Amino acid sequence: MLNLLYYLYDPTYMLVIIGIVLSMLANASLRFIYSKYLKVPSMSGIRGVDAALAILRNNGIYDVQVLPINGELTDNYNPVSKTVNLSEGIYYSTSIAAISVAAHECGHAIQHNSEYLPLTLRTAVVPLASISGALSWPLIVIGFLLSKAGTFFIQLGIFMFLIVVLFQIITLPVEYDASARALKQLKSGGIIQDNEIKGAKKVLDAAALTYVAVAVANALQLLRLMLLSRSRRG
Ligand SMILES: [Zn+2]
Repeated sequence: MLNLLYYLYDPTYMLVIIGIVLSMLANASLRFIYSKYLKVPSMSGIRGVDAALAILRNNGIYDVQVLPINGELTDNYNPVSKTVNLSEGIYYSTSIAAISVAAHECGHAIQHNSEYLPLTLRTAVVPLASISGALSWPLIVIGFLLSKAGTFFIQLGIFMFLIVVLFQIITLPVEYDASARALKQLKSGGIIQDNEIKGAKKVLDAAALTYVAVAVANALQLLRLMLLSRSRRG
């Protein structure tokens, strides 16, 4: 057990701390910007759901439903059920934040409709990434608890962690592209005015930054695990 404690509280723990701080900053920044623009009504006065339906129709997409869901910042596009799921605070709100988030999720629906390659790849990797995410830590902990025989488990766990990090890296172009499409749609569809674009961009950039922070934090964690595994063998 002492052996395991040593590995969990060694100097490479700094890498984990850096990752945690980055994620916290990105989340705090998103919360701040999101709540600010949730209070700024858009000039068009349309709700998140209306913006979403307008964007889908402007792109000839009629087989995607827009549904309200519970929670906050739980908005997503589900390519399997072909639904744009908007949290109730977004679905019914006429704010800049609401129509920006709604447009972003429609950006994913447009990606899906146009068979955008990074989205196809990401969707294909989802099952593997979630299994890897669930198994990697248990395997690594078991590996460190077992003395010599643990190496195999540690390496398998680290490999699964690598799959998770790669999945988070493929997610980045998908997210940035969805936001770029969202802004384009909001402008071309006349859903927001020129002087509102800055606010919409801030909301979308803050959201994208949280994905970057998660990917960086996990890449640092991966690096740490690789260093620990090496020093254990050495
Ligand atoms: Zn997204």
